Amino acid sequence: MNVEQIVLNPAILEEIRVQALEEMPNEACGYLAGDIDESGRRIAVKRIPMTNVDASPEHFSFSPKEQFAAVKEAREAGLNLISVYHSHPETPARMSDEDIRLANDTQTVYLIYSVSDENIKGFTIDREKTVSSYPVVVTE
Ligand SMILES: [Zn+2]
Repeated sequence: MNVEQIVLNPAILEEIRVQALEEMPNEACGYLAGDIDESGRRIAVKRIPMTNVDASPEHFSFSPKEQFAAVKEAREAGLNLISVYHSHPETPARMSDEDIRLANDTQTVYLIYSVSDENIKGFTIDREKTVSSYPVVVTE
């Protein structure tokens, strides 16, 4: 039985929150590296902040060079890239039309941190671009 759950410790959540504030008014973004346990639960271990090369309040993208470095950094730490996160400076934590259009990784969990609502939510997307909620648990 696969447990659909991503586990964040409070320190990683705080790092995302601080980065989101620092990068206002634009969206902040990055990867979470971690482990996937035997039941399929994703355990975040490390935040890898990325530059939002769009420098936009409404969308984000990564540079291929930084993406390559992030993959390498995770691999060298014996971790996987388990999530792509970004912030919504002004809007709730849900996938925008733009997020859905740009999301193309059916294997990752998209986390969205809303600065205005101070909450974080997880989503997956399938090949048909159907978005599903993915539970986020914050615990030590
Ligand atoms: Zn978004």
